[in-house]
Amino acid sequence: MPVSFKKVEKEFYSLSDIAGLPRYQVMHFRPLDEEHNRDRRRYAQVRAGNKPRMEIASAFRELAPEHRLGLYAHELGHLMWPGGSESDADLAAYGLLGVYLGYDRKWPGKGLQTALLAPPKLWRIVGEPTGPNIRAGNGFSKRKNT
Ligand SMILES: [Zn+2]
Repeated sequence: MPVSFKKVEKEFYSLSDIAGLPRYQVMHFRPLDEEHNRDRRRYAQVRAGNKPRMEIASAFRELAPEHRLGLYAHELGHLMWPGGSESDADLAAYGLLGVYLGYDRKWPGKGLQTALLAPPKLWRIVGEPTGPNIRAGNGFSKRKNT
């Protein structure tokens, strides 16, 4: 079940607040849907400049909480440090939110951003992670009771 865009917006703003960053706009960016169809890793990007914002593909809404949190944290890292590299964004994510990022190799290339470890208050925003090891590592019972 995909989450609503409204929920994405709420999650992004809550995390921005915790990071101490402004509430930059988050928007569905149609061209990213086409890019996502060509490259499965393309879910989100940020635009710097005088109106910084985060842009997402529709498919972003279908991602598990650990991937959404990983991408929010990584993109907030880019927004904080626009000239930084990919690893600078990951480092900023850790500094801003305490999210330790890994890359899920079920996706091609480098893999997809995944929050491996995060403070409990961040999981309350995005929901419990689904991966058994990530659940265990963050203090959740190994299998989600549904
Ligand atoms: Zn990046």
